[in-house]
Amino acid sequence: MAQVIHSIPELQQWSRAAHKAGKTVGLVPTMGFLHDGHLSLIDAARANGADAVVISIFVNPIQFGPNEDFAKYPRDFERDRALCEARNVDVIFAPGVEDMYPEPLTCHVYENTISKNLCGKSRPIHFEGVTTVVSKLFNAALPDVAVFGQKDAQQAAIIRRMVRDLNFPIKIITAPIVREADGLAMSSRNKYLSEDEHRRALAISSSLFRAQKTFAAKPGIAAAKLIADIRAEITAAGGLVEYVELTDSDTMLPAATLEPGKSFTIAVAAKFGTTRLIDNIQLG
Ligand code: AMP
Repeated sequence: MAQVIHSIPELQQWSRAAHKAGKTVGLVPTMGFLHDGHLSLIDAARANGADAVVISIFVNPIQFGPNEDFAKYPRDFERDRALCEARNVDVIFAPGVEDMYPEPLTCHVYENTISKNLCGKSRPIHFEGVTTVVSKLFNAALPDVAVFGQKDAQQAAIIRRMVRDLNFPIKIITAPIVREADGLAMSSRNKYLSEDEHRRALAISSSLFRAQKTFAAKPGIAAAKLIADIRAEITAAGGLVEYVELTDSDTMLPAATLEPGKSFTIAVAAKFGTTRLIDNIQLG
């Protein structure tokens, strides 16, 4: 039976007891409305040595801009709880806003380089909200291992950097993207898509897969050509491209050319209807 904990001191107490009992604690931070992508992170925590797993479910207000979907973000705690039970999660940490932010914060955690690119351009406060809440979750759950999804590759890179710069004693795992059978990267926000938008949004994953295949066949190809083709395919499907960018896979900082022997990630953000989707693929 997964234990549901709402308060930070109670979670800290649980984690200290788990450590005392010799357990390795894993943390999977989420905003809930769980899907197989989230659940794969629980398995990744276990595969990386966690014998007690905490999943946090918290729709974090400070990472949403004023015109974003905080209020309408999908929530279904009972469904999430059943999925966590089925996956043998030890603790579901489900704080209220009043537990996480009993008063407005005057201290924030801010990454100032990686977070300026890609999603940071259209979501200026987003990553500061993420690094701040993840720091709070780390201090609440006191994990040895924490797992993030490659689906949010820029977020994962920022967290890796934060942990390195600020010496959090936590091993960060980045787990692969889980996709629908049709290729669309799983996301709680896919629920917003109409059937027609979902079908058209497949241009995102199909164009990325095509780029990956093209690169494997012609490693000398210009990055600009791969990017132009992805843009064209998404636009032809009626998507509004926000960015298609070549980045270094580790840092997620912009890369100019596809140098041999290095790993690159092409990251995409595009809107179908009013729904903003992100996805990425690795080359090399
Ligand atoms: P979210 O609830 O959207 O904030 O996501 C919580 C965690 O799940 C983040 O580390 C995401 O990167 C990860 N995640 C979301 N979707 C997927 C997916 N399709 N595959 C793998 N991880 C995912």
